[in-house]
Amino acid sequence: MKAEIFSIGTEILLGEILDSNAKHIASELANMGIDVFYKTTVGDNEKRLLDAIDIAYKRADIIISTGGLGPTDDDLTKETFAKYFNKELITDEASLKNLKEYFKNEEMPLSNLKQADIPKGAIPIENKNGTAPGIFIEENGKIAIILPGPPKECIPMFENSVKPMLKKYTNKVLVSKSLNLCGIGESKASEIIKDMLNTSKNPTIAPYANNNEMRFRVTASGKTKEEATELLKPTVDKLYDIFNEYIYGEDEERLASVIVNKLIKNNMTIATAESCTGGLLASSIIDVASASKVFLNGVISYSNESKVYELNVCKEDLEKYGAVSKEVAIQMAEGIKNKSNSTIGIATTGIAGPTGGTKEKPVGLVYIAIAVDGKETIYKELMLKGNRQKVREKTVNICFSELLKIIK
Ligand code: ATP
Ligand code: MG
Repeated sequence: MKAEIFSIGTEILLGEILDSNAKHIASELANMGIDVFYKTTVGDNEKRLLDAIDIAYKRADIIISTGGLGPTDDDLTKETFAKYFNKELITDEASLKNLKEYFKNEEMPLSNLKQADIPKGAIPIENKNGTAPGIFIEENGKIAIILPGPPKECIPMFENSVKPMLKKYTNKVLVSKSLNLCGIGESKASEIIKDMLNTSKNPTIAPYANNNEMRFRVTASGKTKEEATELLKPTVDKLYDIFNEYIYGEDEERLASVIVNKLIKNNMTIATAESCTGGLLASSIIDVASASKVFLNGVISYSNESKVYELNVCKEDLEKYGAVSKEVAIQMAEGIKNKSNSTIGIATTGIAGPTGGTKEKPVGLVYIAIAVDGKETIYKELMLKGNRQKVREKTVNICFSELLKIIK
């Protein structure tokens, strides 16, 4: 089975929005073992969409489209597919009910009514997050799966309804596991297992990287879930052997939540003193639902005065070494720990750029320090690449990977 992805809408065609729907669908289809050889982007235009459909069915069996299912006149995806398949549009009662339910507390604009229409003989796909149902058409060996444009509607529909529908067109079951690593870069990690990456066919290993975090996604295909799971295991075990010290979690486990859970387990608390990260570190910890159990206090200490006044950093040291120095980072970490009465105090100070760098202290120079009850305060000097946002994000991730080494 070959599929072609259609991204429909003038906004996408003109580059006003990124085509994240196609990105998601393409990678999921690849995982499912359904080939995608072409992606088509086409504006809200009946003639050109008809042409594109015609061309696509010469080279693919399934078209999966997103966009153009809205209530307005320029939304013409389903009308055009109906025309292509020579079907009239009829009201789908279940979709109409869903639509009325959606508008139960307000008056429904009449134009929305057309969203309950589907081509005769097509199967509606329930939209739990919006008003337009998706549509499944199968006719003379040609399949069209028509989904709404907004990602918060389209992606859950694809995941929950379309994937199960597609199962029968592929005889493969795919099982994957992600191993999440920190403290090692993508290129270094990939270099270590270069041969495995190049030669592994089933399972495949794919590296993904984001700031100081990376993951290996291992995917195996088999005739059954059990067979695929069994195939996956030796490779996962081998990666654990090789990268044991860097692996902090699997699949959806994020670094911040692993840290928070470890802090809870160890009965520890944490407080943050941030200069260059400006609250990003505290915010990343507080993103985790149970953070209130461990997070005591966070100070954004941006000026020299505030470092003295809020964190008790020695004024003379600030003048002597500068705000971006290991001495100041250490004092910030100890200062926030003492002030907050926490088990751990963690501090960041650095030059995130784009301005403010000097020859001695270039943009990207960052110090982090961690003070822990009963231990000598540690610090780390970092030289980070990237723009202001990247430098700040990487700093936070490195704080987490250093914390991970400290909290067992
Ligand atoms: P609506 O009812 O909102 O009009 P629709 O099904 O008609 O939905 P579009 O009008 O094509 O969809 O797109 C609506 C919005 O959904 C766009 O403004 C855009 O924000 C988002 N969107 C559409 N297509 C994509 C895509 N391929 N990738 C990411 N976002 C998209
Ligand atoms: Mg629209």
